[in-house]
Formats: sequence, C-alpha cells, structure tokens
Amino acid sequence: MTTAAIIVAAGRGTRAGGEMPKQWQPLAGRRVIDWTVAAFEAVEAIDRIVLVLHPQDLDRFPPRGRVEVTTGGATRAESVRNGLEHLDAIGGDDPVSYILVHDVARCCTKPATISAILYEIQTGATAAAAPALPVTDALWRGADGLVSGTQDRAGLFRAQTPQAFVFSDILAAHRTHDGDAADDVEIARAAGLPVRILDGDETNLKITHPDDFNRAEKILRDQMDIRIGQGFDVHRFGPGDHVVLCGVQIPHDRGLQGHSDADVGMHALTDAIYGALAAGDIGRHFPPTDPQWKGAESHIFLRHAVDLALEKGFSINNMDVTLVCERPRIGPHADAMIAALSSITGVTPDRISVKATTSERLGFTGREEGIAAQAAATLVKK
Ligand code: MG
Repeated sequence: MTTAAIIVAAGRGTRAGGEMPKQWQPLAGRRVIDWTVAAFEAVEAIDRIVLVLHPQDLDRFPPRGRVEVTTGGATRAESVRNGLEHLDAIGGDDPVSYILVHDVARCCTKPATISAILYEIQTGATAAAAPALPVTDALWRGADGLVSGTQDRAGLFRAQTPQAFVFSDILAAHRTHDGDAADDVEIARAAGLPVRILDGDETNLKITHPDDFNRAEKILRDQMDIRIGQGFDVHRFGPGDHVVLCGVQIPHDRGLQGHSDADVGMHALTDAIYGALAAGDIGRHFPPTDPQWKGAESHIFLRHAVDLALEKGFSINNMDVTLVCERPRIGPHADAMIAALSSITGVTPDRISVKATTSERLGFTGREEGIAAQAAATLVKK
C-alpha cells in the first residue's frame, strides 16, 4: 500500500514580495521549499513525495530519496492534476492508495500534523479529510472603504493543507473537473465526495504577504529550540564506608559529605538540565535550609528537573557526566550508573554517558579531599 504526497510549488506568487517566487526565498537559514519538503520527509509513512515545479524551476530542486519532481500547469488545479497523473503513470505494480496535497507556502506544517491527517484517511474513517480553523473574527462586506454589510461567521472555516484523499477518488474528481479551484476540497466536493473537517493549527500559516516571512521564521525558530545546559558540583570527603555516584552505591573507605546523599554526579547533571531551561539550580528548587530535603535521595532532584523539562515542552536528547576523582575507580560502575540515570530520567542508555578522569594528583581532587563532577545535557523542543 503506497502513500504519496504532492507539494504544489509551481506558483509565481509575487504578493509576498521579493525578486523570486516565495517558495525559493530564504527563510530561517534555508529556502521556504526546503522547510516544506523536510516536514514531509520526516513522515516515514509517506512513500513518495512529488514536487510540482514551474518548468523554469526544474533544476532548482534535484530529485532525492523519496522526492520526485514533475512539471506544473497554468493553474493550481492543473498542477495538482499533473502530480496525480505523474503518480498514476509511474505507479507500477504498487499503485498509490492515499494522497496528501499540500501548498509549498505552508512551510511551518509539523510532521505530527501531517501524520495525524494521514491517519484519518488510512484508517478508512473518511474518503477525504482536511484541516481548518473556525473563523473567529467578525466578518464584514465592504465597498468604497465603507462597511456595506456583515456576515454571520457561524459555520465558516479557514481551510488549510495538507488535504488527504483516497487516491483513486481525487484522481477521478480532477479528471472530470473543469477550470481552476481554490483547493482540492473544492474539486472533491464538486465530484460529490464528503470531506471531513479536522482541527487546523494556527502555526500552519501560508506565506502570502511580506509580513508572513517574519511570522514563519519565528514559528520555525521556536520549533527548533535546542538548549544546552552544563552543571558543576563538588562534595568533600568525610567519614563513611561508601559513596553514591550517579545513583550507584560504591564501597569506599570514606563517604561524601553533603546535605542530601551527596551524589555529586547526579547533582551536576540535575543542574545541567535546570541550566538548559534557564531555571536556576538545585538550591533554588530544594533549598538546603529546608529540613525536608536533609538526606533526600538525589533522584528526587533529577526527576524534578526532567519533569520541568517535559512540562516546558522539551525532551532530553542526551546527557554526559564526567566525574573527577583519584578513587574510587569509576570504570567498573559506569554501566550501572548509566542504567540508574536511564531509569530515573527515561532517557535511553545510548544517549547517556558517564565517564571519569583523575586530576593527575593535582588540586583538591588530586589530594582526595573530595570529588568534583561536571555534566552537560541537550534539550530539544518537542
Ligand atoms: Mg551537590
């Protein structure tokens, strides 16, 4: 069963300003079209992506991987039709079952949105589905600079793309449709196909006017919010028979002193996550002056930092801890430490590093007065 997407990019739109059509203009470090194609490439369920380009633009986007290129027509409807015919002609033994049609100028569409729309059609719930937002502003009619009437907004929607269809249905609808259409829902409805309305997304904007570039850039930059945080901690040695490092108890001839369990590695890591969130440090969230945290196990702090990251919409991409000490030896315990950190944070072990170094007998760690730890964490907006 093949699923395909058509991205309509043959327009010569000039309302958005600039010297070239909007899909080729730069936006947040790449071209508008690159953002749009990347969103569809990120959806593994899509087997083929057909880019419909103006004849003069064919060399501006070489086919790659799942991305094929075909030539557009004089109108939007004609361009979509060309994309559908291209998929039908080169379908081979594996004809296309489901199709998404998308406007290249909607370059902020999230892969999750594309997947959700696709799911709707793949589960057979409907033969056609498209996202839309209810109109919330009051609507007027106007003439000569004056309001000439008002329009009830009840039941009115602002249509978005991608729009999803059963391939054979929308191909047949296009083949019998004359003239242009605002979108493929119009063509589907003209052929009598019912179209389900799905929840649209305000950030799924269509670049139309010059100001839209700024709005789109902000949305895209927010979506690719990547944070790096670092943490550092020291605890001194005192009497004892073990130390706790990254959640693992290790027999030793001394212990680490501290208000909590003195897990210097976990403290540094916790501070790295708080740092990435610009949310202070352990002391701010668990004041040492507060007796309820005396002897508290450090996983409480780490879990709190992880929960705060999730709450703010971030997932933890990776974590890296370095312990600085002459003794005890860390190497034999590193895998257990990674397993412990993984179970507390939910981050998979292949994204967690625990390593150690001595300080060549120099300084307080070299004199074995205490253990230092530093950590880094990368957080990515989901
Ligand atoms: Mg500490």
